[in-house]
Amino acid sequence: MRAHRLPHIWCPGCGLGNALRCYVEAMEASDTPLDKHVCVSGIGCSGRAAGYVNVDSYHTTHGRPIPFATGLKLVRPELEVTVFSGDGDLVTIGGNHLIHAARRNLDLNVLCANNFNYGMTGGQFGATTPYAARTTTTPYGNFEQAFNLPLLVAASGATFVSRWTSLHVRQLTKAIERAFEVDGFAFVEILSPCPVGFGRKNEFADALAEMTHFREKAIVRHDADLREVGITMRREDPIILGNFVDEERPSYFVGKDDLLKSVLEGRE
Ligand code: SF4
Repeated sequence: MRAHRLPHIWCPGCGLGNALRCYVEAMEASDTPLDKHVCVSGIGCSGRAAGYVNVDSYHTTHGRPIPFATGLKLVRPELEVTVFSGDGDLVTIGGNHLIHAARRNLDLNVLCANNFNYGMTGGQFGATTPYAARTTTTPYGNFEQAFNLPLLVAASGATFVSRWTSLHVRQLTKAIERAFEVDGFAFVEILSPCPVGFGRKNEFADALAEMTHFREKAIVRHDADLREVGITMRREDPIILGNFVDEERPSYFVGKDDLLKSVLEGRE
């Protein structure tokens, strides 16, 4: 960590501190030297992560960390490139980049802190805000359906898809380590309390209440049917966690070489 940048800006009870800690621990545990790790962030509360980690890092524009990371990986494929950003940045503003990077199976790690709203700008709703949730811009309840991120990213072609909460620090750290290992597009959704922007508008009295909800409702189901893992506001529904997808498929680079080879052989 860049100690001179601390203390961080995140609110008391925010899940981003835990999430970043897990990322840092995973980097330290990985076989890749720290000078080969690169962190790319977008805009929002989570976007500050790039400034705190003591590796080469880039704080890019809103919704665009994946295009930036894509360029970086294409030019320097030996680097372990990780995008650390939020749901508003990665899914709502940058959603098209997310699904196309997954479709290409480019060897990137995307850590998506999902707090169900735009926390930094005042708690507006986005594409991950659950149906019926209240936000600054949906004061009577959100009437749009939220993206089910594991289903979306798996359907788009990701090689590794995982979801944990920022309380599940051991499992989350291991999932990030696995994301580094897989050769392809790895996506880790991190459910992260935002007591200031989201929790207090949705009857979580404080940060502890939202964390307690995560702890009590979380169940681990690695083989879950991904159509059933969407997040709802119904208090009786479980929050399904796990490493849902972990498969081998040629990544963008390998696939490209194989394709080229077969085209060239076909010419001979
Ligand atoms: S606004 Fe929400 S996401 Fe942002 S730092 Fe505060 S609690 Fe965390």
